[in-house]
Amino acid sequence: MFIVALTGGIGSGKTTIADRLAELGAGVVDTDQLSRELTADGGPMLPAIREAFGGTVFQPDGRLDRSALRRLVFDDPQSRARLESILHPPIRQRMLERIDRLDTPYAVIVVPLLFETGQQSLADRVLVVDVPESVQIERVRKRNGLTVPEIERIVASQTPREERLARADDIIDNSGPPENLESQIQRIHRRYLDLCQASPH
Ligand code: ATP
Repeated sequence: MFIVALTGGIGSGKTTIADRLAELGAGVVDTDQLSRELTADGGPMLPAIREAFGGTVFQPDGRLDRSALRRLVFDDPQSRARLESILHPPIRQRMLERIDRLDTPYAVIVVPLLFETGQQSLADRVLVVDVPESVQIERVRKRNGLTVPEIERIVASQTPREERLARADDIIDNSGPPENLESQIQRIHRRYLDLCQASPH
């Protein structure tokens, strides 16, 4: 299967673009969604998370307290590494299983932390969605109601914009209004259809 890895910073528009590529016929596997499945109520990774971090990251009813866990790992690199060592192997396994089951011309894997996790090696093509930081901040503020300093900290913890762009094979500019996306997405979809036909997969 020809694999496109779609990445970009928080609030850049990854989901918006992946949804549209899916409508056009791409197979989409979203690693954030796999992570949520693995940690949903009764999810298979909850026991390992409880063992690693204890009851403080759980709600009284036994569900994961996502914001408590996010705060914990954000402030503590060791905890973050531990959480990643719990979640990344099963996410990767599920992702490969889902890709295997696709019968679409090509696959789009949505990986917010693509370069941080070294997963670009799986991909034939790296597609970066690019927006300036000020736009990220504005869109995330509207969507989640986080404060500007909170969003700035998250942005600062992710791969810098310049590095992401330098490592991209293809770039979608999502700094404008949504209607500016359509022609870019159509063009990139056609390019991937051409490339996957030409590739030996
Ligand atoms: P995250 O990494 O936080 O999951 P994401 O990269 O998947 O985010 P989206 O969820 O697609 O980004 O977009 C972030 C927010 O910005 C959403 O509320 C979305 O509706 C909005 N948005 C996306 N593209 C545009 C645009 N061109 N103009 C205005 N709003 C947009």
